[in-house]
Amino acid sequence: PPFDQRDGFIWYNGALVPWREAKLHVLSHGLHYASCVFEGERAYGGTVFKSREHSERFHTSARILDFEIPYSVEEIDAAKHETVKANGLSNCYVRPVAWRGSEMMAVAAQNSTINVAIAVWDWPSMFDVETKMKGIKLDIAEYRRPDPLTAPSMAKAAGLYMICTISKHRAERRGFADALMYDWLGRVAECTGANVFFVQDGALHTPIADCFLDGITRRTVIDLAKRRGVEVIERRIMPEELASFSECFICGTGAEVTPVSEVGVYRFTPGELSRALIEDYSREVEKQPSPAA
Ligand code: PMP
Repeated sequence: PPFDQRDGFIWYNGALVPWREAKLHVLSHGLHYASCVFEGERAYGGTVFKSREHSERFHTSARILDFEIPYSVEEIDAAKHETVKANGLSNCYVRPVAWRGSEMMAVAAQNSTINVAIAVWDWPSMFDVETKMKGIKLDIAEYRRPDPLTAPSMAKAAGLYMICTISKHRAERRGFADALMYDWLGRVAECTGANVFFVQDGALHTPIADCFLDGITRRTVIDLAKRRGVEVIERRIMPEELASFSECFICGTGAEVTPVSEVGVYRFTPGELSRALIEDYSREVEKQPSPAA
């Protein structure tokens, strides 16, 4: 069913409300001026993976957009778990969102209310390793990630996602699963909702996350690779270099670790390091403590 016509509960400004009643007015600043930030997380066995890191990034994104989330990191963490539980889910996607309300309808909106909602829904993870190992095909996006002096690049801000939606739609129309986006200087950056990694001579190479989202999954994968003794090199990667890599994978809360078989004219064969990191990531998300009773 459409997302506004489901059963269950959404946490809305401090309390759980019936799913279909979690509405907002058409004259909301967040809708017109994109004064809106969000998070994307997954719960495994009832526990939100790296909940605190996501809540902290949620706060940071809001501050970059010049507003303050009116609930502490601890309150947001508790609200996420309360919402997962209220909906009777244990493995699910978690979507906190915060936006400026309807008090002021112009570019300036200092005195508007900051609204916060948290919704959760079933989104099966694709941990079937053999399916993943086939790899997905990536198009090259026309749009680039903006210069950090042009846009709040490091925030998970709703406004930045128009570039992603346009690019993802174009990729799908052309028969690809997703698009690889370059940054404003033409260097490899990230996908429309995931970060990207490459393998070269047994080492992992990934772009420096200084003008696109530094994914929490990205940081987890770097950590898992290092724990395996794999060298991880964060550096500038130019598109022509794609020919020199043997494996490629993307990672993010939604994608988890997903191998890539094609990027534009370049071909990759998902291999042992991709498989190892899929399995390490799967073990890592499962080994969390149970949620507090
Ligand atoms: N880049 C973009 C544009 C994204 O939307 C996401 C998903 N939130 C990521 C990277 C990966 O971030 P994370 O690992 O924190 O989910």
